[in-house]
Amino acid sequence: MPSPLAQNLSHVEERLERALHRCGRRREEITLLAVTKVFPASAIEEAYALGLREFGENYVQEFETKHPAVSHLAGARFHLIGHLQSNKSRRAAELFHVVQTVDTPKLARRLDEASRERGVTLEVMIEVKLSEEESKAGAGTATLPALIDAIGGCPNLRLAGLMTMPPWSDDPEQSRPYFRRLRELAGAHGLTQLSMGMSHDFEAAIEEGATCIRVGTALFGRRVKRAT
Ligand SMILES: *Cc1c(COP(=O)(O)O)cnc(C)c1O
Repeated sequence: MPSPLAQNLSHVEERLERALHRCGRRREEITLLAVTKVFPASAIEEAYALGLREFGENYVQEFETKHPAVSHLAGARFHLIGHLQSNKSRRAAELFHVVQTVDTPKLARRLDEASRERGVTLEVMIEVKLSEEESKAGAGTATLPALIDAIGGCPNLRLAGLMTMPPWSDDPEQSRPYFRRLRELAGAHGLTQLSMGMSHDFEAAIEEGATCIRVGTALFGRRVKRAT
């Protein structure tokens, strides 16, 4: 019997294939980012054993505790997909290969400084806020050009593209206009990578040009909130 994760993964791959088929895209164009927040390091190891190599985590502190158990996994890459406070940027630059949630010039400069000290180039994406929800992190579209310029002035950062998270809705069609808007913005700025789409709406994201889908629940099951 395949494990629950193996079964979930093949189901996700089937959904992915159908979406790719509808829009004539190829599997190699898409990075399946396994979102392992709240799950233990063993979930990362199990996913790695099934061939997954790209992992998304939301919190610097949480990943810090898992990192020793997974840092030896050859070829594994870890992406920070949760909001980053600039006082944690140094640690983030040490732990992650990609920071998808850069949203201010200040944060970019901090990450650049930390990467320079380590003698590495850090891959970053800009999290774009496309809705008016107060609680959402991300750069507003009006501040995007200045932020892109600021990152361009950071020699130790490499800007790969844009990331977004639409307002929550059960209906994936509600996400589609946000995905489309992100693609237009990226195109206008000559950026090629688009991180968009989660468990419930990644088909629409693929159809709108996603190059990275961030999938948690559909792979690992529902997250139970930890008592803190
Ligand atoms: C948790 C999370 C995901 C994964 O969400 P699922 O609905 O579990 O697939 C994707 N992106 C971000 C930014 C997240 O915080």
